[in-house]
Amino acid sequence: MAFEGLTERLQNAMTKLRRKGKVSEADVKEMMREVRLALLEADVNFKVVKDFVKKVSERAVGSEVLENLNPGQQIIKIVNDELTDLMGGGKEGIEFSPKPPTVIMMVGLQGAGKTTTAGKLANYLREKDHKRPMMVAADIYRPAAIEQLQTLGEQLNIPVFSMGDQVSPIEIAEKGIEQAKNEGRDVVFIDTAGRLQIDETLMAELSEIKAATQPNEIFLVVDAMTGQEAANVAKSFNEQLDITGVVLTKLDGDTRGGAALSIRAVTGKPIKFVGQGEKLDAIDAFYPDRMASRILGMGDMLTLIEKAQQDVDEKKAEEMAEKIRENTFDLNDFIDQMDQVNKMGPLEDIIKMIPGMNNIPGLDQIQVDPKDTARMKAIVLSMTGAERENPDILSQSRRKRIAKGSGRPLVEVNRLIKQFNESKKMMNQMSKGNLSGMDNLFGK
Ligand code: GDP
Repeated sequence: MAFEGLTERLQNAMTKLRRKGKVSEADVKEMMREVRLALLEADVNFKVVKDFVKKVSERAVGSEVLENLNPGQQIIKIVNDELTDLMGGGKEGIEFSPKPPTVIMMVGLQGAGKTTTAGKLANYLREKDHKRPMMVAADIYRPAAIEQLQTLGEQLNIPVFSMGDQVSPIEIAEKGIEQAKNEGRDVVFIDTAGRLQIDETLMAELSEIKAATQPNEIFLVVDAMTGQEAANVAKSFNEQLDITGVVLTKLDGDTRGGAALSIRAVTGKPIKFVGQGEKLDAIDAFYPDRMASRILGMGDMLTLIEKAQQDVDEKKAEEMAEKIRENTFDLNDFIDQMDQVNKMGPLEDIIKMIPGMNNIPGLDQIQVDPKDTARMKAIVLSMTGAERENPDILSQSRRKRIAKGSGRPLVEVNRLIKQFNESKKMMNQMSKGNLSGMDNLFGK
């Protein structure tokens, strides 16, 4: 899994701090020593690490942090902010031309995933932005490069322009753009040649293609598995071509983090997309903040929050919060809440996105059967209004009656009531600001 070692080391470094009620400058120094080692080991560029550590340390020893009630949490937030900043801050999209077609030149070393990424991105823009893309085969050197692009085009049902391998790539690119105009295609991807390493002839040719086609974007495709070497490659390409963005591929692999964390700082250019698999839909926009949370092992909280905002009725959520605060949360609310959670999709997916949950052994195996919640609902619906509002009156005879009414075994009724009481207890603690219940939940 990507970033595994880095995540573990960063978490270890920070957990020590988090446990402390009071944090001293020496504690911060000790933590930062570990953070520094973790980053270096993840193959992050040396200078980038040095600057990062300096920035975080300066902010972390500020008086408003150390004197805060919860300095450990504050410092984690600073690390998260600075990681986000290191990767560029916000999401950066594609600069579409006001006068179509938008020309996107794809460059990169051989094997980085350039051709595959051209196909993935063309498909992505068609799906997300309703574009009509076309691809141009301008790699005339690598045997089978043209066929590879044509096969991709067929798979995706996206046209590929080619003139064989006996025409200059510059001419192919120019003619390809012309053809796109004639056919009303609004985005053109030019798949250029790669080499095993940077060489002058290649750069000269790419510069000529750039001059002839005036691309709106020049995307450099780099392999995340190559660590900070990817950042060095990006630096060279940028010096020669003034690229507009980077696509980082193979983030589904066992990458350590060096590429993701070094590229922006070393080149000044943003990572715009990430490839996360061999399948043609395995491409995503790059969000520095989400990547920072992922590296810190905080799960994809933002995705979770967005999901919750989309799917959960806000008014209901507020009412629920009010009830939790006032400790009037009853069994009616319990099933309401279950409905809300059900709406967000499979519970096992949600659990994975919660910080700390993704590294509890076995938790990823959890399967939550929607039928279970339906059965629980049946039980609650067999209760009288008074019982739902005040579950304390649920005597043994009442429970037997409910079991019979709902067609569920008595043990299930008992289990549900127990579960409700436990949830209520935990909510009560949380609403009083006592998070130790949560800590237990997170296995800390
Ligand atoms: P090019 O020489 O730069 O054009 O590279 P290709 O597009 O031919 O890709 C080289 C290899 O990397 C192929 O086997 C691709 O399937 C694979 N590849 C590309 N992107 C990804 C990715 O995001 N994840 C994984 N696992 N493999 C990828």
